[in-house]
Amino acid sequence: MTKIGDWLERPARDARVAAQADVVVVGGGPAGLSAALAAARNGARTILLERYNHLGGLASGGMVLVLDDMWDSHLREISVRGNCLDMIERMAAMGLARFPRSDEWGEDPAAYRRWGRWGTFDFHSQKTPHPICFAAAFDPDAYKRVALEMVQQAGVQLRLHSWFSQALVDGDRIKGVICETKNGSEAILADMVIDATGDLDVAASAGAPHISDSYITTTVFRLGGVDTEAAERYEREEPEAYAELDRQIKRVLGGSWGIWWMKTPLPGVVWCNCPHMAGIDGLKVEDLTRAEIVGRQHIHALVDFVRGKLPGFERCFVVDVAPQTGVRQTRLLEGEYVMTKEDVVQRVRFDDSIARGRDYYYPFRALLPRRIDNLLVAGRHYSATSQAQKISREIPPCMAMGEAAGTAAALALSAGVTARNVDVRALQKTLRAQGADPGDQTGRNADVPALAAYVRQAETA
Ligand SMILES: Cc1cc2nc3c(=O)[nH]c(=O)nc-3n(C[C@H](O)[C@H](O)[C@H](O)COP(=O)(O)OP(=O)(O)OC[C@H]3O[C@@H](n4cnc5c(N)ncnc54)[C@H](O)[C@@H]3O)c2cc1C
Repeated sequence: MTKIGDWLERPARDARVAAQADVVVVGGGPAGLSAALAAARNGARTILLERYNHLGGLASGGMVLVLDDMWDSHLREISVRGNCLDMIERMAAMGLARFPRSDEWGEDPAAYRRWGRWGTFDFHSQKTPHPICFAAAFDPDAYKRVALEMVQQAGVQLRLHSWFSQALVDGDRIKGVICETKNGSEAILADMVIDATGDLDVAASAGAPHISDSYITTTVFRLGGVDTEAAERYEREEPEAYAELDRQIKRVLGGSWGIWWMKTPLPGVVWCNCPHMAGIDGLKVEDLTRAEIVGRQHIHALVDFVRGKLPGFERCFVVDVAPQTGVRQTRLLEGEYVMTKEDVVQRVRFDDSIARGRDYYYPFRALLPRRIDNLLVAGRHYSATSQAQKISREIPPCMAMGEAAGTAAALALSAGVTARNVDVRALQKTLRAQGADPGDQTGRNADVPALAAYVRQAETA
């Protein structure tokens, strides 16, 4: 008798060849978006596949609303540029991104009072208050709009509502992917594939070595009708009462970072990076379903609690719960190089560095699967230990990795070599030329003052 856990053979299904391109990017989150833009701008015919109806992944659909880990705390400079800064500039021009100016970066308590509730601080720092740094608070719909605009301008062929299900592999080479759609199974053929699913769906299906682990899961939500000034005033003027109430709120939430609400560019709307839940496997339907149910229970308990008790939140209501579940970690590639926590913490700089994060560098080898050719990965499932990934997976560095992977794919195709044989010096040079920072040069960015001016200009635009 068949029982749960058994495997059933299913009838083979044909897939219609729906499209073909030089580069196919699977997953339209921060890494995949940036990879597709870079590949297309470097001359490759590029298709971007995404399972949902929007681009941006956890940044927009997951409503993770601060672009951080893009400021080097040692060199005190912006460390992620390229597509990510372009995105910030475009959202700022719409009035839908906010960030501190360069003269506000640092340990000034007054700057913290202005920016702390925007979440634009160095949260790894042990100092109190945390130093203010370059980071951008943004609106999720602005990220979606700008992403669509950038993709169209770059000439990327976008296919939404396409759920990747299987890698097409011939020997040690990937040839394309299968997606499930309303119209049945579709094959998308490619010379080069970039896995940007965040969960390593493509590389795992292709047989690339990987590990699996998990980290806390969060159902992020937004509240509207909040008088943020009144709430901040209460926190400032009655710190002890606020602290006690904050402790009670966190018990209601069942798990949260230190700051559980942050401002957004929309007046009266705050985002809440909570409640946190442990022990959720982001690949399991049962666990993901439980996270949605338990998360919403905590959210509504919180709303009932703060309406009665927290000044500024008396009239708050739930605007939305993020349509994408806040899964931070699932599968991680075991690639040509596996980044360790020591690499991240000790700021190890690699000869083949192709992207930077906050205070760390990514080698090109960490984007390369073993065994499978012409497959690159970019984003939170890059080749790292579980401990290293926890502190090196924020949106801006994922965009930087994506930009490197897309550029590498295009360079490989034009040179007629496999992805692993790309000329890394040429890749670094190309990334610099297009405004990214591959982290290959020692010392501060030569053009920091120009960047600071650029940032100020973007804010006042
Ligand atoms: C709750 C939470 C809070 C966070 N807070 C912050 C923060 O404040 N600041 C910050 O910078 N970072 C934060 N992060 C980290 C950051 O959001 C992610 O690490 C980052 O978004 C990873 O980008 P990515 O492109 O690799 O993956 P994702 O953002 O996960 O994007 C993957 C994309 O691939 C698509 N996809 C997945 N599988 C398939 C498939 N089979 N077929 C087709 N498409 C598929 C998804 O729909 C998605 O669009 C947070 C993360 C979480 C979960």
